[in-house]
Amino acid sequence: MTELRSLIVVGAGLAGWRCCEEFRRRGFDGPITLIGDESHLPYDRPPLSKQVLSGQWPVEQTLLATPERLERARVRLRLADPAVALDSSTNVVTLASGDQLSASHVVIATGARSRHLPFGEDLVRYLRSIDDLTGLRRELAGRHEPRVVVIGGGFIGAEVATSLHKSGVGVTVLEASARPLVQVLGETVSTWLADLPSAAGVTLRSNQLVRNVYATSDGLAVDVEGYDPLLADIVLAGVGAVANVEWLASSAVPLDNGVVVDSFGQVSERLAAIGDVARFVWDGPAGSERVRIEHWQVASDHAARLAQVWVRAEIPTTPLIPYFWSDQYGKKIQAIGHASPHDEVDLVHGSLAEGKWLAMYSRGGVVTGFVGLSQPRALTLARPLLERAHSRGEALALAPWLPEGRD
Ligand SMILES: Cc1cc2nc3c(=O)[nH]c(=O)nc-3n(C[C@H](O)[C@H](O)[C@H](O)COP(=O)(O)OP(=O)(O)OC[C@H]3O[C@@H](n4cnc5c(N)ncnc54)[C@H](O)[C@@H]3O)c2cc1C
Repeated sequence: MTELRSLIVVGAGLAGWRCCEEFRRRGFDGPITLIGDESHLPYDRPPLSKQVLSGQWPVEQTLLATPERLERARVRLRLADPAVALDSSTNVVTLASGDQLSASHVVIATGARSRHLPFGEDLVRYLRSIDDLTGLRRELAGRHEPRVVVIGGGFIGAEVATSLHKSGVGVTVLEASARPLVQVLGETVSTWLADLPSAAGVTLRSNQLVRNVYATSDGLAVDVEGYDPLLADIVLAGVGAVANVEWLASSAVPLDNGVVVDSFGQVSERLAAIGDVARFVWDGPAGSERVRIEHWQVASDHAARLAQVWVRAEIPTTPLIPYFWSDQYGKKIQAIGHASPHDEVDLVHGSLAEGKWLAMYSRGGVVTGFVGLSQPRALTLARPLLERAHSRGEALALAPWLPEGRD
């Protein structure tokens, strides 16, 4: 095994910064260099579409790494200088400035970027970064009663619509499927969530296939198949994300919808990938699968688990249980596990009428995950069941775990 003497982390987002913190917390004392392509100190993205866009937080509140924290963690930060190549045989990273850095160990944490629509390139906005947010806010501020169209009713689209609606901006959400989130959460749960936009006063149009976005004398026209064009001042799309791996094209790093790694993030004993960019082996209750998961908690857990393996030479004994949340239309959706939209679904707590419920997903009699609407406590209590299912592939045994009416 190669001795861990120095570390380069490429990508100064959540996974990259957490990696620096976790390596220090577990006792790594050697030099750490963190390389970022953005000009900002590492920051948190979830508040961008929530608290920051709705005006509740200043953008500075999203910072993960303040200058003091960087100094305390003794991290050398290189910002606004993207990595453009990696020689994985020598662990030499080449930056756009031409500088070359090397370390005994390298972590790839370059995350993902917004998937772009194949049209309207200079007209359609996306929200992934502080710069995107600043641009969007500038455009909103420059217009009286702006008309906003959001293409995509998934997590980002719904959160953007919620935040804009909260600040008094008129928004229409266009969703290509019959219901938002049907491809992620499946038929049953997406049906249970279908009334959220209208209950919150947001206009959502389903089965809307957007063909083009173009400029007219009266603003932007959104061309929807089978309908009259919709006029807007600002069009924003939330249609998924793609892993940032292009800079690795000339390397020997295995790529397939992300960097292909083992269950601890390792490509090799001295090269790893974590966070949104990693396509890792997930040992779930219904078997092993290779997944790339774009969740805040997974990025954070990846960093902690890699530090455990590389710094402490320990194999993590607790399973990685994916978790995410989304604040939309005045409600909190939370999920743990990695359920498939095709899994069976049972309502195990709360009621649809109340707008507070917990759904359990299972496959072949094995629990695969839970999704809750405004049920944080029940979701927390369901976690041990999932951990047990994880370690033993245990069949359904849910009722005793879920206290009625406690949320
Ligand atoms: C608006 C928004 C809201 C979200 N809300 C939620 C939520 O409510 N719940 C949830 O669970 N998750 C949410 N997420 C997802 C969560 O933020 C991500 O899972 C998390 O940011 C992943 O961290 P990461 O470090 O892997 O990637 P990123 O945060 O994307 O960081 C990667 C960094 O690497 C940089 N980089 C890319 N290429 C290079 C290069 N060649 N050289 C140097 N640097 C490079 C990128 O610019 C970026 O700064 C949200 C994401 C967004 C965008």
